[in-house]
Amino acid sequence: MSFSHILKSSLTHKCPRCLEGNLYPDMNPYHLKHTTEMYSHCPKCDLNFFPEPGYYYGAMYVSYAFTIAIGVAVFLLYFFLVPTFSPMPFLLLFTLILLGLAPYTFRTSRAIWLNFFNRYSPKQQSLTSKK
Ligand SMILES: [Zn+2]
Repeated sequence: MSFSHILKSSLTHKCPRCLEGNLYPDMNPYHLKHTTEMYSHCPKCDLNFFPEPGYYYGAMYVSYAFTIAIGVAVFLLYFFLVPTFSPMPFLLLFTLILLGLAPYTFRTSRAIWLNFFNRYSPKQQSLTSKK
């Protein structure tokens, strides 16, 4: 296990245990009809992606952190690039950027949350695999 495994799993939406199975049947988060669909188990190593009811409520905290980070970044860019700061254009820009990134941050928040409780372990993959 290393930070690079966590980063790869989180950013590419792969299973945190085997780094091979996809978390989502449709890997494009911008296919909005399928954005929230997620496998119940890893297709490669059979890791349970829903270990308990309400498991992904915690991912909302990760999403909140994303929102704050994006807000600070947009604010700093806006503050330094636009000569006269006014709140309404900033809020409009911030809202549009948040809405544009929402499908990706939704899925990435879930992937990060899954990485909090599961570690890269390719040996465990063969022990639990049904194939
Ligand atoms: Zn897996």
